Amino acid sequence: MTTTAVYDTKPYDYEYLAAAADGKPLRMVFHDFRLGAETARLAEGCGAVCAFVNDQLDRECLKTLAACGVRHVAMRCAGFNNVDLTAARECGLTVTRVPAYSPYAVAEHAAALVLTLNRRIHRAFNRVREQNFSLAGLVGFDLHGKTCGIVGTGKIGRVAAGIFRGFGMRVVAYDPTPQPEWAAAHGVEYLAFDDVLAVSDILSLHLPLTPDTHHLINAATVARLKPGAMVVNTSRGKLIDTTAVIDALKRGHLGGLAIDVYEEEEGMFFEDLSGEVLQDDEFSRLLVFPNVLVTAHQAFLTREALSEIARVTVDNILRGSCGEPFLPNTMLT
Ligand code: NAD
Repeated sequence: MTTTAVYDTKPYDYEYLAAAADGKPLRMVFHDFRLGAETARLAEGCGAVCAFVNDQLDRECLKTLAACGVRHVAMRCAGFNNVDLTAARECGLTVTRVPAYSPYAVAEHAAALVLTLNRRIHRAFNRVREQNFSLAGLVGFDLHGKTCGIVGTGKIGRVAAGIFRGFGMRVVAYDPTPQPEWAAAHGVEYLAFDDVLAVSDILSLHLPLTPDTHHLINAATVARLKPGAMVVNTSRGKLIDTTAVIDALKRGHLGGLAIDVYEEEEGMFFEDLSGEVLQDDEFSRLLVFPNVLVTAHQAFLTREALSEIARVTVDNILRGSCGEPFLPNTMLT
């Protein structure tokens, strides 16, 4: 029986992973703290570890895991920017992930952020609860007839494009690997990246974080955005240079920012810090803009996505333990 140390476990992880592992030859040890160089040695005696988006799988951590006898790192997410794959290979560690679970969960959350921020639903909700029925400051705009720019037309970006088309928007897109047949069938126009920036009223990011896409949204690219445009990020925080967007928000050039991910979210998102003093000044600044909406990396959080993440993660761990080939796109090293 394989023992897997599961790091950064939240109650919903426990519920869905335990259900998926039920009856399988798999023992899971759940830790509520994150995986990093200091906590890696707690996997001693485990054949596998299961990690998430804000665990830090750097070289030191991976070396410690390998020295403890771990052979398999099963990521229970799609992104793997927090794993040093070169070091994993050198340490002889197999790294797997869940390549797709529910693109609908993330794309629908992006749409929820757009609707909430545009129509000020978050502010209206608070006002009505305080019996303040004034509408001052709640004016939004029709999405119908506006232009949405989708950056990255992979699984999530394509679903998001369909949702925004459903609102009657013109949808333009940029992807270095375009899908012309899909675009033609769904009324989406591919444009050069700069042109997407120039014409979009809403710009929604659906691309992975890589060294090339780090700070894709920076002072220069923000300057090319249409004045008053809204930027939506449900992908990875480091795609956006926070300093640059704060500056553009203060000048009124950026009309809105809706983010489910934040550059420095590690150690903050997924935790209850309500009794503590926030140390991140840029994040604190973002929270006081009336035209900024932040959720704490919850776009994936639907029942369907959690079930699928747990099912594929357990399948990966079992395949790893008996040397069976992994399903396509799951194996990273
Ligand atoms: P995917 O691999 O299916 O699609 C990514 C697309 O981005 C690909 O088509 C690729 O060609 C494109 N791309 C790569 N570099 C680009 C660039 N420089 N400019 C424009 N496009 C580029 O991935 P997906 O499943 O659609 O996921 C997209 C991202 O969403 C993931 O990388 C992950 O970071 C994020 N995500 C977030 C959550 C959340 O809970 N917030 C959950 C799942 C995924």
